[in-house]
Amino acid sequence: MSWNHGGCLCGALRYATAAKPLRVTFCHCKFCQRATGSAYMVEPIFERTNFAMTAGTPAIYALASKGSGKRVSINFCATCGTRLFLAFERFPDILGVYGGTFDDPDWFERTPLTSRHIFLDSARQGTIIPAGVRAYREHTMLNDGTPVEPVIFEQPHEIGKRSTGSAWR
Ligand SMILES: [Zn+2]
Ligand SMILES: [Zn+2]
Repeated sequence: MSWNHGGCLCGALRYATAAKPLRVTFCHCKFCQRATGSAYMVEPIFERTNFAMTAGTPAIYALASKGSGKRVSINFCATCGTRLFLAFERFPDILGVYGGTFDDPDWFERTPLTSRHIFLDSARQGTIIPAGVRAYREHTMLNDGTPVEPVIFEQPHEIGKRSTGSAWR
C-alpha cells in the first residue's frame, strides 16, 4: 500500500495516509454541514498510526459534541482556513479526514460495504442516499456504546421524499 497525500488550499499543511480507511462515513449532521459549509462531510476514517502530517502543524478548534459531550477537534490551516481532519476525545485511536482534501479524493473506495451514512434525520432535502448502504438516523451507537441497527434502502432514497417500496430493515 503506497502513501496517499493531501493538504490545504495554500499548501502550508500536507499530510499522508499509509493505509486504506477503516470505513468511509458520510456525515449529514448539522456540525458537519456548518463546518464544511456544504450538505455533508465525506469522512474516510483512519487509524491514527496510519496518518502523518508531512508539512506544517494544524491549528485546532475544539468543541463539545452535542451528543456525547466529548471534545471534537477540527484541525485546520490557520492561513487558508481549509479543514483537514477531525480528532475525537471519545475515539482517540482514529481520525476523520475531510475527504476532499486528498490530492486524489477518489483513491479510496466508497462502496456500500465500506461506507455508511449517518445523521439522516438532519440531512438536507434532496440528498440522495444510495441503495444498499448502511444508514442511521443519528449516530451508529448510543452514548453508552450500544450499537444502533442500521436501515438499508433497497432503492436510492431521496431525503424529504416518501420512499416508495423501499423497506426499512
Ligand atoms: Zn493552508
Ligand atoms: Zn457530522
